[in-house]
Amino acid sequence: MKNISGYEFVQQFEKVVPLWLAEEKDPVGLHVGDLGQTVRKVMVTLDVRPEVVQEAIEQNVDFILAHHPPIYRPLARLDLSDPQTRMFADLIKHDIRVYAAHTNLDNANNGMNDWLAEALSLTDVEIMDVSRTIPLKRLNVYAPKTHAQQVRDAITKAGAGNITDSYQDCSYSMSGIGRFTPVGSANPTIGEVGAPEEVEEERIEVILEENKVSTVMEALYQAHPYEEPVFEVYTIDQMQPEKFGLGRVGNLPEEMDLVAFVHHVKRSFAVEGVRVVTPPNGLNNSIKRVALCGGDAGKYYPKALQKGADVYITGDVYYHTAHDMQAAGLTVIDPGHHIEKICMPKLKEMVLEWKKTLEWDIEVIASSVDTNPFLFDHQL
Ligand SMILES: [Zn+2]
Repeated sequence: MKNISGYEFVQQFEKVVPLWLAEEKDPVGLHVGDLGQTVRKVMVTLDVRPEVVQEAIEQNVDFILAHHPPIYRPLARLDLSDPQTRMFADLIKHDIRVYAAHTNLDNANNGMNDWLAEALSLTDVEIMDVSRTIPLKRLNVYAPKTHAQQVRDAITKAGAGNITDSYQDCSYSMSGIGRFTPVGSANPTIGEVGAPEEVEEERIEVILEENKVSTVMEALYQAHPYEEPVFEVYTIDQMQPEKFGLGRVGNLPEEMDLVAFVHHVKRSFAVEGVRVVTPPNGLNNSIKRVALCGGDAGKYYPKALQKGADVYITGDVYYHTAHDMQAAGLTVIDPGHHIEKICMPKLKEMVLEWKKTLEWDIEVIASSVDTNPFLFDHQL
């Protein structure tokens, strides 16, 4: 079992939920504390509220992994009589770090919106609004036959040669003869200074995502036997890169009427009630194709329409936006923003997996504080 610092934890997390997936101006990443210190006990939470901070202190937590960034708007003053400001002083006093993964978690593949789609048992799930792709590169590297396997292993282990989630270690090789004459201060692995050399070589071709180029090049330099490895990296545009974006659209296993669907939503997200917006005569519509976007995403309803959704599920729908949705003929269900609590068991599971596979000496818990500020009257 190995001790890990906050940096190591975050580095692993950002492989799955990278910061570049966040929407503009979203303050994702470290909010409070020092990543240099060891992480011993992680708590995952939807919100960082004063009660959550108290729970973290009582549970000896030293790293909070949150969905909602606690400092969303800049703090104007540190007046500790305000409980929402006081909690930052408490966090610092108890050396508790806070790290937020917000819209980057929403946009991540196998992230928040996929978890919500899974909870509703949607099939054929696709992205509602594709906003990002990663350009693909091709790397060709020339290695002596004796070391080709070693170089291939190193670059694929570093992330080259993945085609979608379904194929890894993809490469192509061609044999040939490499020629060179070491001169001057060269210190060649094969051959001697001043003598022309011919070596049986392999040209290894792989594709890789642009954001992996530096990691892969580092691995290449480590594994390649030559003093000056020969390679070329260039952008290719004929491949379909992996897509990322907001919201998901999918199909229900079976068509259902609106009332049955509302029950399905309440059961799937364990909520006590929902708000329903229907267009005129929309009550009898049957539901098969479902669009969703967790959080406050009412303004994206035209994307749901474009995708042919029978219903759009999102939280915090505003009165006037609801009028616009009705006029556009769209049925909308607002189960509240708090359905995003689904991230807690999922993030916990993710960290537990790393604890096991990477042999991290850490504990992980999910917050048990209910941070939903809303109750329905029948709950009183
Ligand atoms: Zn949210």
